[in-house]
Amino acid sequence: MSKATARGGVPRRPGDEDDICPVCKSSRYLNPNMRFLVNPECYHKMCESCVDRIFSQGPAPCPVAGCNRTLRKQRFRKQTFEDIQVEREVDIRKRVAKVFNRRQDEFETLDDYNDYLEEVETLTFNLLNGVDVSATESKLTEYATQNASIISRNATLEHQESANLEARQAAEREEARLRREAARKEEEDEKKAREEGRKEVLEQLVHGNKPAADVVKESKRVELLKRRRAQQSRALPALPSGTPSANSNPFTFKGLKSTAAPTPEKPYDPFGGLTDERSYYTLQDYYEHPWLDRARTDTHITAGGYTVTEYCARAMFEAFSGLGVFVGEEVAGRGDLPGGNGAGDAVAAAEAAARAEKGVS
Ligand SMILES: [Zn+2]
Ligand SMILES: [Zn+2]
Repeated sequence: MSKATARGGVPRRPGDEDDICPVCKSSRYLNPNMRFLVNPECYHKMCESCVDRIFSQGPAPCPVAGCNRTLRKQRFRKQTFEDIQVEREVDIRKRVAKVFNRRQDEFETLDDYNDYLEEVETLTFNLLNGVDVSATESKLTEYATQNASIISRNATLEHQESANLEARQAAEREEARLRREAARKEEEDEKKAREEGRKEVLEQLVHGNKPAADVVKESKRVELLKRRRAQQSRALPALPSGTPSANSNPFTFKGLKSTAAPTPEKPYDPFGGLTDERSYYTLQDYYEHPWLDRARTDTHITAGGYTVTEYCARAMFEAFSGLGVFVGEEVAGRGDLPGGNGAGDAVAAAEAAARAEKGVS
């Protein structure tokens, strides 16, 4: 029976009042092709023929008793949801969302965005439940006129984003299809090659004069070689030109706001930015001094693990580590030191440090 199911496939009882037009009282039982339409002005349901009859001549008042709203034919449409309240709520939400289409990146903080969403929700609630409808409507219109440019920009952005997403999904589907095809072809080729190899071996066994064991051994070697070659070619898959690869971006994201990526957090520094870099001196790799040369080469010294570099680093560090050490003053006395002009920086500095330690200024 065609009566068994109605919109959405929900089984219905015969005589269900949803299947009777409230205007002409004709029922779906007698006219299985009857379609119901609603007008978002008042959401009163009526059949298609009633809409044609009453509103073809232009706007007319709603024929449902007690509802005097003026309806237009072009605004009638098919009901999407079974429940007319849901239908109405979806319409209102759509209308509000069209005006209040701010994006999260337009707000300084997430809290601001959430406040905005809450305000929009309050407005939607008012419209849904008939609280201060006229005031809310006028607020909505005012906002829409004031922010017309932003609203249209955001609408365009949203449209582009959804278009991009669709294009990307299509490209991914195409790529997956190509991959599947390549895998299938590879499998076929391998099968064919295997069969050919087997046929060859049989031929040789029948007509050739080689011993059977040799023939089998040779065929196994050839097969192994072929397989290895196939694996190598698989490791470097050559995509046909024009195929979108995973890395290349075939889309141009026009109009997308250039948002600065948040700077990645630096690893935790327990020293609070303090480094062991010296501001007063640069440690050289090699300091020239006869005494140091001896220490470098004498196995009596180096055998124990002693390194001159370590000594120089330490000497330099100690020379400059004191607070209020004025390098200029210390360098002035360099000529008096043993070693003369040939003395390296390290030695001079070490001597200076030693003097400073003893309290000799
Ligand atoms: Zn009707
Ligand atoms: Zn009505």
